[in-house]
Amino acid sequence: MPKAQETVLEIDLKALEHNYLHLKSKLQPNTKFLAVVKAFAYGSDACEIAKHLQNLQVDYFAVAYINEGVALRQAGITKPILVLHPQAVNFKSLIEHCLEPSLYNAKILKEFISVAFDEKQNEYPVHIKFNTGLNRLGFWQSDVDFIEKILSSTKTIKVKSLFSHLAASEDLNESKFTLNQIVNFKSIAENFEKALGYKPMLHMCNTSGILNYPDAHFNMVRSGIGLYGFGNSEKENKYLKPIASLKTIISQIHHIEKGESVGYNRAFKSDSFLKTATLPIGHADGIGRQYGNGKGFVTIHGQKAPIIGNVCMDMIMVNITDIECYEGDEVIIFDKNTTAENLAETTNTISYELITDISQRVKRIFVK
Ligand SMILES: *Cc1c(COP(=O)(O)O)cnc(C)c1O
Repeated sequence: MPKAQETVLEIDLKALEHNYLHLKSKLQPNTKFLAVVKAFAYGSDACEIAKHLQNLQVDYFAVAYINEGVALRQAGITKPILVLHPQAVNFKSLIEHCLEPSLYNAKILKEFISVAFDEKQNEYPVHIKFNTGLNRLGFWQSDVDFIEKILSSTKTIKVKSLFSHLAASEDLNESKFTLNQIVNFKSIAENFEKALGYKPMLHMCNTSGILNYPDAHFNMVRSGIGLYGFGNSEKENKYLKPIASLKTIISQIHHIEKGESVGYNRAFKSDSFLKTATLPIGHADGIGRQYGNGKGFVTIHGQKAPIIGNVCMDMIMVNITDIECYEGDEVIIFDKNTTAENLAETTNTISYELITDISQRVKRIFVK
């Protein structure tokens, strides 16, 4: 790769393929693979990532909201797309673009049937979500009879899958809780199949579920973070490659005398001579203010340079006193060696948050 000449997010499609094949190797041959590409494919680029995965024969995609699915259709994605958290106001658009809604309570179920009926749909594919312990979205087990009553009174929709979501699949201390979620889901599925008289697809596992609960893969798994290179544990991270590298350059170097301050609010005051570098990346690009004042760091020529003072909207300043470097030199915010997870940990957050925060202002470059 040529050296960065501005702030860029480099996306390695070979690494994506590697992660996909690694995760797929954990599945039975007939288990389907759903790629979660919500939130711009976790801050990378949903359309490019989905196109590449579609070429690799991924079975299904998921996004959070309807507009995200519309963008995928406009980019030429033809595989089925599950919308995890659709909003009723956009149901017409969902149907026009052949997106498949997750329906999780009585209100949204009835609203969808009503719109689909008006749009003259027949057996429109929908996915019924059950709550088994996350207590976020989903019908309760006790709703099965009610759902059955509604479904048997209409030909407008057809249930393509039943699913649920694990609350703590990455935390083996919570395995008792997780196994209980799995047992509950199985029992819901049995009741549902009996009531309906047919067997929709079943799915429950996210990335850590795939890795930690092989007996809960059912007919399909839903992977997000693993595709992007993080396995939520040191052991699993070894087999995965972070696909995104965030790089920038040194705009200017300053020599700061003892007693001077750096940045807004004079948040940093030097108690000795030091050298700083100003970089063209700030909180508007996704490096939040919490990374300022010595918490976060960047890497220049293999050496760590801590962020000093407050993070600005478009810039950060880093301490380069002991690093031999020049204006125009490349700076690594995160890559495969110093990962987004390593940087996220400095502010007690997780890779998911840091990578999805990288704003649309940052240029994406694809490495094939
Ligand atoms: C985001 C999401 C996933 C993907 O989870 P990862 O931990 O990123 O693999 C799977 N299922 C649902 C319902 C989600 O919201």
